[in-house]
Amino acid sequence: MSRDSDIEILNFIDGELGSASSGATLDLFEPATGERVGRVAASDATDVDRAVAAAKRAFPGWSRTPAAERSRLLLRLADLIEGDFENLIEMESRDTGKSISLARKLDIPRAVLNFRFFATAILHEQAESHATDQAAVNYTLRQPLGVAGLISPWNLPLYLLSWKIAPAIATGNTCVAKPSELTPRTAMRLSELVAEAEIPRGVINIVHGRGPEAGAAISGHPEVPLISFTGGTATGEIVARTAAPMFKKLSLELGGKNPNVIFADADLDEAIAGTLRSSFWNQGEICLCGSRILVERSIFDEFMKRFVEETEKLVVGDPLDDATDVGALISREHLDKVLGYVELAREEGGEIVSGGKRPGSLPPRIANGWFLEPTIITGLGSECRTFQEEIFGPVVTVTPFDDEDEAVRLANDVRYGLSASVWTSNLGRAHRVAARIDSGTVWVNTWLLRDLRTAFGGMKASGVGREGGRWSLEFFTEPKTVCVKL
Ligand code: NAD
Repeated sequence: MSRDSDIEILNFIDGELGSASSGATLDLFEPATGERVGRVAASDATDVDRAVAAAKRAFPGWSRTPAAERSRLLLRLADLIEGDFENLIEMESRDTGKSISLARKLDIPRAVLNFRFFATAILHEQAESHATDQAAVNYTLRQPLGVAGLISPWNLPLYLLSWKIAPAIATGNTCVAKPSELTPRTAMRLSELVAEAEIPRGVINIVHGRGPEAGAAISGHPEVPLISFTGGTATGEIVARTAAPMFKKLSLELGGKNPNVIFADADLDEAIAGTLRSSFWNQGEICLCGSRILVERSIFDEFMKRFVEETEKLVVGDPLDDATDVGALISREHLDKVLGYVELAREEGGEIVSGGKRPGSLPPRIANGWFLEPTIITGLGSECRTFQEEIFGPVVTVTPFDDEDEAVRLANDVRYGLSASVWTSNLGRAHRVAARIDSGTVWVNTWLLRDLRTAFGGMKASGVGREGGRWSLEFFTEPKTVCVKL
């Protein structure tokens, strides 16, 4: 890759890196400095057509490649990602503004794991068989569909891109993937590693560009029979509107406004440590962040005192510094949007107990970066927009509740249903509340502890479908029943 001030992000189509066919580019920025650092191919339907054609040509050969060989190639790619670890964590940190320590412990290890997990999962597949008395035997073949369309967001770039590419190609599909135009660097590095791993050309194609052009060309492409999309709920609606009438298989992983419910009987040290992470990891820019903190009234004051103290110890600073906890937000526009919500919270009668503004003094390198202090708001009812809408920044609300019923009512009182955390030492309550919360995942006394075999996805406006383990293997294959008369 070229000098840092002149990065050029290219498409990867049919095994070759190249510009968008129109020659158009988008500016690429480093959130921590606010400076333009390069340009990104601004692809359109012509580039997507080329990528889909390449993926179609590669499909017959790849889908017939034995699972053991596909597995070997994916494992080789995982090793190459691991071998490029230090480079990738720096790229991810520079591209997103996230702290390099988070990229080191979360993003890149998970990208390696995604490829290893699905590379080995396909070696252990089992098929169903049903004997119809003595008359017939039925068995189920699971076959890849063809070209998978994969669209991913900016908050966990390589983590989420690989979460889609790995199961798609492990099961024998080929793919056209579009990472976020805001964070394309690790995707381009992945392209180079795919070539180095000698994965056949056309199996993985990566097209860069804006959503309404490159993304829409993928979701609306007649030769792409399945779409896996992760991003905002409003964009998910557009993708669904395009794909549904074309009868595409669709997986939508969308936004969240997740409750973090703390009962008086919880281990408060653990609850506060977990809440700090679920509030401010990745600047609150994780779909699973627990941005609505609900606390039992009898411990509300003690919780607030300690939570504010711990929050104010977090280091907001240069993402490239290992000591930094909270880095920069993804863009100027996003920072303005998040600051707009802080202003709205004030108008709605909320009290900004901590943060709420840009940090006072930052080192020269990052003086113009898109930073915001971790922000804690109280005093808002559940009807407030600040409580209802996904902010996707380092901003949480804290709300007291009186009993279990009220906690569940508040937890469920939003349009989203992605995840929740429940902190309690009462075993019966933990199971009861977990069963009553409307979300795809409920963590008890923890947050973001993921086993890749489990179902992941959202209820309500947080999405449709599940990914992870056998759910991904099923999504990326079509079951076919073969009935043999005896
Ligand atoms: P976004 O919806 O703006 O963009 C996501 C991707 O969709 C990008 O690649 C974008 O270019 C593309 N896109 C935009 N318009 C499109 C269109 N018309 N057709 C096709 N593609 C289009 O989301 P974002 O701002 O990048 O990411 C933040 C959102 O993602 C948050 O809402 C967050 O909660 C959500 N998210 C959800 C999960 C999950 O697993 N549920 C995980 C991470 C992020």
